[in-house]
Amino acid sequence: MSMKTEKSLTVDKNWCKGCGICVAFCPKNVLEIKDGKVNIKDLDSCIKCGQCELRCPDFAIYLGGE
Ligand code: SF4
Ligand code: SF4
Repeated sequence: MSMKTEKSLTVDKNWCKGCGICVAFCPKNVLEIKDGKVNIKDLDSCIKCGQCELRCPDFAIYLGGE
C-alpha cells in the first residue's frame, strides 16, 4: 500500500458542465468558470478541504490520491 498522502486537486473538463457549484462552495476562491468549464485559478490557495469534490454533481473535480 502506498504511503503517499499528498493529494492534488484534479479537474476532468470532459465531465464538467460549468454549473459553478464548486466555485460557490470553495472557501478559498480557488476556482472560476472560464469558457463554460471550471478552471483552477489559484491552486496555491487550495486548502484541500474537499468541498468542491463533495458538491460537484458530476464528479468532475476531486482530490486525487497520487
Ligand atoms: S479542496 Fe476546498 S479549497 Fe481546494 S478548490 Fe476544493 S473547495 Fe476550494
Ligand atoms: S461543480 Fe462540477 S460540474 Fe459544476 S462547475 Fe464545478 S466541476 Fe464543473
